[in-house]
Amino acid sequence: MKALVYLRISQDRTGERAGVDRQRDDCLKRAKERGWEVVGIETDNDISASGKRRRPGFEAMLKAIEAGKAQVIIAWDLTRLQRSRRDEVRLYELCQKHNMRLALINGAELDFQSAAGRFVADSLGSVARLEIELKSDRQIRASRQAAAAGKRVGGRRPFGYDADGVTVRPAEAAAIKAGYEMALAGVPLAEIARRWNADGFTTGQTRRKEGHEGQPSPWQAYSVRMVLLNPRNAGLRSYKGEVMGKAEWAGIVPESTWRAADATLKHPDRRSGTVSTARRLLSGLARCGVCGSTVHAGGAARAGIVAYRCSGSMGHFSRMAEPVDEYVGKAVVAILSRPDAADLLTDGSLPDAEAMSMQAMSLRARLDSLAVDFADGALTASQLRTATERLREKLAEVEASMADVGRVDKLGDLVAAENVQQVWDAKSVPEKRAVIDLLMDVVIHPPGRGTRNFNPATVEIAPKK
Ligand SMILES: [Zn+2]
Repeated sequence: MKALVYLRISQDRTGERAGVDRQRDDCLKRAKERGWEVVGIETDNDISASGKRRRPGFEAMLKAIEAGKAQVIIAWDLTRLQRSRRDEVRLYELCQKHNMRLALINGAELDFQSAAGRFVADSLGSVARLEIELKSDRQIRASRQAAAAGKRVGGRRPFGYDADGVTVRPAEAAAIKAGYEMALAGVPLAEIARRWNADGFTTGQTRRKEGHEGQPSPWQAYSVRMVLLNPRNAGLRSYKGEVMGKAEWAGIVPESTWRAADATLKHPDRRSGTVSTARRLLSGLARCGVCGSTVHAGGAARAGIVAYRCSGSMGHFSRMAEPVDEYVGKAVVAILSRPDAADLLTDGSLPDAEAMSMQAMSLRARLDSLAVDFADGALTASQLRTATERLREKLAEVEASMADVGRVDKLGDLVAAENVQQVWDAKSVPEKRAVIDLLMDVVIHPPGRGTRNFNPATVEIAPKK
């Protein structure tokens, strides 16, 4: 039979480190005893075991098994062979598929051809699979415990908070709040970065570790994005990008605002992909009244005058943009000046953001307690899986509707304004576009022949939904 030897140099904390030479000697000796022909030796070095580094030797070994180059794997012991549970599952599955024999110098010899060997490998494999599933739950609890003990994981001072990660810095918190408002209104991240820089804020989040004093650096689009996507700003604790529950610190914005920003920044085209790039008020938002194609802005025949054009193949019209923009702006101001404009914010069809936030919290808490129930033996593995799936689905639903409620924040200061016109005029084009996109559908018709004056009947405005 042909054999592959797998060696791994790893840091052994107990000090009983089996040097790679010793590993090799023992493995080769075993091959000789059994009369196996060694066709290859694969070695991995992970003294700096970060848990993330690829293991080229391990991968090469899997490839060799797949190619049928050997029937036996010889390794020092199980811990040498497997570093992660995921690798373990891959190895077992491959060994089963190819009827391999696994010879461990310190440990059993598993013959995947025999029923007993298959049984042992099967149970080892399913334990490994279960551990992968439970691992995240354990990490959640560990990180929760750290939070409860007041320990913060990670050393950088988060923007908006003191180095303790709990005390809010009012000036930075205000900048973050404004950042969310702008991002939700469709203001490009680079513009938010520019404003934060102009206001004297820096990303100088000094490391707590001594000798690693962070250099203050100006904000850029990507660093603004990272701040806005951070659930900590909503008073939520996360682990590896997944929200785990309420944090020990106070949030700067409501969860719905963070959710909306998260959805908007991660899927910029979910509402209108043109918001951040187009310059003209209605470009890409309005539609042609004849064919339904989107309307785009461009220079007209006379220099300096911007026109809206039907983008369809027929090019149904090209008309001056200015009066159309003015008319639509007036319509927005009129709608938001109405005494019942506040109803737009507390739309009866939208559930209460606070209630949804509570619901999400309790769902997360229940998810968390499931793992405990399982560990206590109150749940079987399949019950755990079913219950987890159901809760995750429900949670995803709640989170999605929170993002929708958060979008209504775009209108916030407009609805509350004494003078809506003034607030509207002060908004940037991207902000205005976001409001129009939220409130109405605009359909533009040809201006009509020979008409010099703007005819309001040629611009249709219909409320959304
Ligand atoms: Zn058209």
